[in-house]
This record gives sequence, C-alpha cells and structure tokens, in this order.
Amino acid sequence: MTVGRELARDERKGIRRLVTGWCANYDSGEDICLPLDGSCYMLGKGWTGSFCRYFRGSVLPLDPVLEKAVCEEGPPPDTKPCAVCGKPFLPEGRQAYCSPACKDEGNRRRSRERMRKKRAKPGQGCYDLGLPKARGSKGS
Ligand SMILES: [Zn+2]
Repeated sequence: MTVGRELARDERKGIRRLVTGWCANYDSGEDICLPLDGSCYMLGKGWTGSFCRYFRGSVLPLDPVLEKAVCEEGPPPDTKPCAVCGKPFLPEGRQAYCSPACKDEGNRRRSRERMRKKRAKPGQGCYDLGLPKARGSKGS
C-alpha cells in the first residue's frame, strides 16, 4: 500500500459533495457520521488512501471520475469534458456527453445549429446561378 498523495482541492470538494449529498450514514442536521457519532472522517481528509469503507464501497462509485482519480495510482484518468456542461467524464467509445440529459441537449443544439445555417443560406441563393463564373475564376 502506498502512502498516497495529497488530495486536490476539487477532489476534496467532490468528496464533501458526495458525503453530504449521498452518504447514508451522514446526518446533515448534526453534521456527523451517525455510526461513529462524531465528525465524518472523510470530510476532514486531505490525503488519498484508507477511505472510509462505506464511502469507498457505496458512495464514491457515484462519481466514477472522482473514484478513478483518488483511488487509482498512475496517470490521471482519461477523461473528456462533456460537450454540453463541460463536466469531465469517462467516455465509453465515442461518447461526447456525460449523461443522457446532456446528450439530448447536445442533439438539440446541433439541430438548432443546422436549422440556423439552412435559414441563413437563402439570401445568397440567387448567386447560385453565377456558379460557373466562380468555377471559371480558377483561370488559365
Ligand atoms: Zn454534461
């Protein structure tokens, strides 16, 4: 087992978000870990390694990017920013969005963009007749 490394600020923030939002043992009213009847070990954590077992097994997997980042040794995970919300995620294949919701939004934006382009064209439509001229301008 390695000593671990210091957690980045974003990683600590991510852990806090998971604990306060998802951990079944966390009591938000008292700000304590119920089984420990004391402050949550994960909230004060500054280093990787030896996570709370419940957190590691049941809470951390909710954020696969964070899980990979704080639990795996070696280079940072191969994440990609979501094309819609910019949130990093682990792409499967050629996936460009972090979630189905973002995928829908992405498709909507793309078709809106297509419509806009289509609508922008007609103004120049009459010049289509001059096409041979454009071609001929290559000269010689
Ligand atoms: Zn997204």
